[in-house]
Amino acid sequence: MNEMILLKLGEMVLKGLNRRSFEDKLQANIHRRLNNLGQFRVYTRQSTTYVEPMREDCDMDGACEAMKKVFGVVGVARARACEKDKDAILAACKEYLDEPLRTASTFKVETKRADKTFPMTSIQTSQYVGGELDEAYPNLQVDVHNPKLTVHVEIRDYAAFVYADAEPGAGGLPVGINGRAVSLLSGGIDSPVSSYMIAKRGVALEMVHFFSYPYTSPEAKEKVLDLARLLVPWCGHLTVHVVPFTKIQEELRRSCPEELFTIIMRRFMMRISEAVAQRIGAHALVTGECLGQVASQTMEAMNATGAVVSLPVLRPCVGMDKEEIVQIARKIGTYDTSILPYEDCCTVFTPRHPRLRPRLDEVELAEEKLDIEAMVKDAVDNIERIHL
Ligand code: ATP
Ligand code: MG
Repeated sequence: MNEMILLKLGEMVLKGLNRRSFEDKLQANIHRRLNNLGQFRVYTRQSTTYVEPMREDCDMDGACEAMKKVFGVVGVARARACEKDKDAILAACKEYLDEPLRTASTFKVETKRADKTFPMTSIQTSQYVGGELDEAYPNLQVDVHNPKLTVHVEIRDYAAFVYADAEPGAGGLPVGINGRAVSLLSGGIDSPVSSYMIAKRGVALEMVHFFSYPYTSPEAKEKVLDLARLLVPWCGHLTVHVVPFTKIQEELRRSCPEELFTIIMRRFMMRISEAVAQRIGAHALVTGECLGQVASQTMEAMNATGAVVSLPVLRPCVGMDKEEIVQIARKIGTYDTSILPYEDCCTVFTPRHPRLRPRLDEVELAEEKLDIEAMVKDAVDNIERIHL
């Protein structure tokens, strides 16, 4: 094979004793993402993971794109293999890296030599290749301290490799290294972003979506599944638990004070999500709530919704401006789907004057006549599970 992908590993190399399990988890995640792209060999040496195609029909472009979405990887570089010979290495640089070499102003060559039988030292190799490139490209000047372009040469046991600077990877920690959480996924902009942010910290997610058919349409549900699909390249495979929510909402409209409807509805969302979390062994709930964004997102409201669950509620968007959330949504590719105009269950029966600062005791009083346990159980028993 004359090309491969090098992945530079991030934070995980700092974790000392846990390093091995980090690498194993990352490697398993990488294998899974490469599943449909061909047969690859994946191995890690000194905080670099090597992804080598095993056959000619491997989709290298697809693999490169997929690797940029794997958490735990900070840099992705595509490398060309060549014979372990100084002039073959030079020729590979000129051919494979011609474009960056022609456009950069300053450069240096950095050589790593795993094969100690190679007749030149790392420094000699860098000096030779650097000198020749300097002559071949009049636009280039050597700058060993702050080069615009670094040409990397690696001499390994069975071949040499050349590559330019790595492109940014996804950062974060390998998904699954920090346990599991349940993420409440609406069709909005914020909850796909909050899901992404928690997955980035190494948490495997399962999604819960509250569906209010026929008040919300099958298209609205399809949109949420589309959002979940867009998150799979980042989060790994996902299960979406679609909770039938209509009966609960109708019951709440019948029996609760209108201005507390939203807050009580959200308390049911939390209870049901916690029941799902218990079932799947998850240790936190995740929402896209943001302080002060809407009436149900004041501190008092968050307190009233968080009070019904004992699991921690992670709200990674809580301190962000909308513009910052939108920026991430665009980066991860969910924005255009999020803004499609379908209703969400939260917009069904919305009170005209929702209580901004609900008191916990009045909310609890309003819930007294409800058979909460039975309502939650009925919803949980009728969950539809969709595996993506
Ligand atoms: P988003 O953009 O994520 O929809 P939002 O600003 O519209 O958020 P709300 O509608 O108040 O805010 O929802 C706050 C959070 O509650 C959402 O980020 C999401 O985590 C959760 N949520 C809201 N509606 C649903 C739903 N139908 N299914 C699952 N979770 C939901
Ligand atoms: Mg919403």
